[in-house]
Amino acid sequence: MIQRICFLLLTLFTFSFLHAQQPAKPSAVELYHQIQKLNFLGSVLYIAAHPDDENTRLISYMSNETKARTGYLSLTRGDGGQNLIGPELRELLGVIRTQELIEARKIDGGEQFFTRANDFGYSKIPDETLQIWNKNQVMEDMIFIIRKFKPDVIINRFDHRSPGTTHGHHTSSAMLSVELFDQVNDATVFPQQLNYTSVWQPKRLFFNTSWWFYGGRDKFEKADKSKLSNIDIGVYYPLLGKSNQEIASLSRSRHQSQGFGSTGTRGDDIDYLELILGDSPTDKLNVFEGIDTSWNRIKGGASIGTLLATVEKNFDFKNPSASIPKLVEAYVLIQKLEDEHWRTLKTYELKKIIAGCAGLYLEAVAASQSTTPGSKLNVKLEAINRSSQAMTLNNMLSQTENKGEFTATFLENNKPIYEEIELTIPETQEYTSPYWLKEKGTIGMYSVSNQENIGIPDIIRTIKVTFSIEINGILIPFDREVIYKYNDEVIGEVYKPLDIVPVATSTIIDKVKIFNSLQTKTIGVKIKAGKDAIEGIATLELAEGWKVMPAEISFKIAKKEGETTVYFEVTPPSNSSEITVSSQLIINGKKEVFEQTSIQYSHIAQQQILSKAEAKFIKLDIKTNSEKIAYIMGAGDEVPIYLAQMGYSVTVLKPEEITKENLKNFQVVVLGIRAYNTVDELAFKQQLLFDFVKEGNTMIVQYNTTGKLVTKELAPFSLKISRDRVTEEDAKVRFLAPKHPVLNYPNAITSKDFEGWVQEQGLYFPDEWDATFTPILSSNDAGEEPKNGSLLIAPYGKGYYIYTGLSFFRELPAGVSGAYRLFANMISLGSKTNKQ
Ligand SMILES: [Zn+2]
Repeated sequence: MIQRICFLLLTLFTFSFLHAQQPAKPSAVELYHQIQKLNFLGSVLYIAAHPDDENTRLISYMSNETKARTGYLSLTRGDGGQNLIGPELRELLGVIRTQELIEARKIDGGEQFFTRANDFGYSKIPDETLQIWNKNQVMEDMIFIIRKFKPDVIINRFDHRSPGTTHGHHTSSAMLSVELFDQVNDATVFPQQLNYTSVWQPKRLFFNTSWWFYGGRDKFEKADKSKLSNIDIGVYYPLLGKSNQEIASLSRSRHQSQGFGSTGTRGDDIDYLELILGDSPTDKLNVFEGIDTSWNRIKGGASIGTLLATVEKNFDFKNPSASIPKLVEAYVLIQKLEDEHWRTLKTYELKKIIAGCAGLYLEAVAASQSTTPGSKLNVKLEAINRSSQAMTLNNMLSQTENKGEFTATFLENNKPIYEEIELTIPETQEYTSPYWLKEKGTIGMYSVSNQENIGIPDIIRTIKVTFSIEINGILIPFDREVIYKYNDEVIGEVYKPLDIVPVATSTIIDKVKIFNSLQTKTIGVKIKAGKDAIEGIATLELAEGWKVMPAEISFKIAKKEGETTVYFEVTPPSNSSEITVSSQLIINGKKEVFEQTSIQYSHIAQQQILSKAEAKFIKLDIKTNSEKIAYIMGAGDEVPIYLAQMGYSVTVLKPEEITKENLKNFQVVVLGIRAYNTVDELAFKQQLLFDFVKEGNTMIVQYNTTGKLVTKELAPFSLKISRDRVTEEDAKVRFLAPKHPVLNYPNAITSKDFEGWVQEQGLYFPDEWDATFTPILSSNDAGEEPKNGSLLIAPYGKGYYIYTGLSFFRELPAGVSGAYRLFANMISLGSKTNKQ
C-alpha cells in the first residue's frame, strides 16, 4: 500500500456521500437496476491484497453493466499504510480503510470481504509475506469466503508469476488464489468449514493485466494481446446519467485516508483479462460464457425466472408498486427453493426490492447513541407504506423487547405509524467493537475464533427490530438495525450506529511515558461514564520495582458521557525498565478494563473500538542535554510529543513562523515526516534554515518520499532520495563511522540500540549524496545489497545538517529505547550548550 501501485480506479448506486449511514431510498431507476440484478444468477470475485488495489472500474462494470453479483476480497484491511486525514495508524487505520471500502462498494455496487491477514507493512517478496502471515490461515479464509460467495469467475488484480516486481502482499494474493482454485471444491480441504457452507468449483480465473505489468504503456501497446479478453469498461449508463468510469471515480474517492480522490472520465476504455485457469471463453467479451446465469441454473428456478422476467419487462417507472403482487409471488416461490445459498441471497435482494417498490420506510431509532448491557433503551419505530398496495403491519418485535403486545395495523397509503418501545439490553450483550480486534493476534494475523465471522467486513451489530408485514396474505419479515440519528443545525440529518459500551472506560493519557531519571512523574487517567451516576475506584497496575501513589483513587461521575481525570504519581526503578501499565476501574465490585476509541469522519460511519486501557512506561538509560528544539510538522507524526517527554523544550513552528528572528531561540530544527512533500512554504524557507545551520546549529530532516517534492534543494549539498528501504525491522545494523560523535555522545550507541524496533527500519533512503556527507549506518533486508543512506550527516558552516530515513516516527511512539538514544545524540551533535 505504501507504494502507490494500487493505481486502479473506481464506481454507483446509492449516492450517500455526506452521511455514511443514511438508509437506502431507491429511486425507480435504482429499483429497475436491482430487478435486473435479481434476474442475473452469476457472480464474480475480485481478489487483491489491500484497500485501494481493486480495479473499481471493472468492479463497477461487472456489477452495473453485466449485472453480476460482484465481490472484492481484500486480503488485508490496509492497517500498514499512512493516514492522510488523521492520527490513526495500524489497527485503527485498518478500521478506517475497512469503512472506506464498505462505502466504496455502496457506490460501485460490489460487496466487500476480508481475511484475517494483517497488513503488517511493506514486504518485498511473497516468501517474506507468507512467513509473517500464516499462509495456511489466509488460504483457509480465502477458501471459506469463496465457498460462501460461490463465484463463477475469479479475477486476480496481480500476477502470480512475478514475485519481487510489486509488494509481496500483492503477489501473494494472486499466488494463493491460483493455488486454491481447485481446493475449494475438495471436501477434504478444511472439512470443518462444511458445517457452515459447501464446496464449490469456480469456473475460470483471470488475471486483470494492464500496461503496468508490462513495464510501460509503449511496451504494452506492442505486446501480443490476442489471447487477452479486452472489455470496454467505458460504457455509459443513460438511466444513471453517468459513465462507468465516473461511477468508479466516485467509489475510488471514498479512499480518503489515502488521498485517492479521483476524477471520472468518459469514453471507450479497455480493460484486459488474461485467462489463468479454467476453459477459455470463445467469446472473449463474456467471462460468463457457458455458465447459465439465468434462474434456470437452480432447481425450481424456472418458474421464478418466468415470473420475474415479466416483472422486469412490465416495470412501470411511474408506479413501481404495480410490480409488488408478482414480486410477492416470486418471494413465495423463492422460500421453497431447496438450494440454501440462492434462497438466502435472492430473498435478501427481493425484500429490498419489495420495500423499495412500496416506498416502504421502516426505521428503529434509539433515544441515545450508546447504551450499556443490562440497561433499558427507548426506541422509536416508524413504519410507512407509500403506495396503493394494501399491506398490514402484523408486528414490530425485537428479541430484547420488554412487552410483546401489538395489534395488527393496516398500513394506509402515506400514513405513518409511530410506536415507542423499550428494549432491555441483555446483561450478556457483547460490547460494540470490531470483531477482528477483540482477540489478541500476531504481527501477521488477526485472531477470530468464531468461524462464522470470517470474511465479514464490518463490526457485527445484533440489536434489531423485525417488522412483520403481510402483503396479499404473505408474511414477510423486514429486519432493521437499531440506529441513532439527530438533526445537526448545519448539515441536517446525521445517522450513527448504536454502540454498546461499558459502564465506564478509562484512558492513560500518555500512551508511552518516558522516564529518563529517577524523578517522579504525574500520570493522568481519564475516566468516561457509559451511564448516569457511576461511582468507583481507579487503580494503576504496575510491575515490580515501579511505585505508584496513591494506590487507589475514588471517583464519581453524575452524567453519562461525563468525564473526570485522576492523577497518580509514578516513580521508576533505578535500572532501565520497560513495562505495560494497565488502568482498572472497580465499579459495583466489577472490573472495567477497557479504553474507548471513537473514530469520526463524515465519509464513514462512526466507529467505536474497545481495547485494554494500557500504556507503556519506559525507564531509559539515556543522557540528554538541554537543547531547545523547533519542530516543523510535515504529514503528521508524534515525534514532538516524545521529544518533550524526554525533557526537551519543543516548540512546533508553523511555516509562517519560520523566521530568522524566531530561529534564534533554538539550537535544533527538526522537520516532521514528509515535510517537503506536504508543506509548500518550505520551498521558500530553505535558505533561512540553511543559514541557521551555518551559524552553528543542527537541522534534522526525517524521511520524504520520491513523489512530489516542494523543492529540489533538500540539503545545502546535493542529496538524492530513492525508494531504498529496509523493511525488516530487525535487519542487522553495521556502523560505517563508529567514531562519529552521533554514535558516541552523549550516549554510546551499540548494536543493542537497534533491537526491538517495530514495523520497519526505515524508508526512502537517499542513494546518492555529496562527499561532504558521512554515511553513519548500513543495513539491508535479507538477500539485498547494503543500503548506506539511512543516516547521513554533513557539517555546514559551524553546524550540522542531518538527513535520516530511519523510522523514528514509528519507533518513538512504540517506546523503542535505542531510537530515543540515537535521537538524543542527533540533537546534541552541535550543541552550543555542551560542546565536546
Ligand atoms: Zn496494494
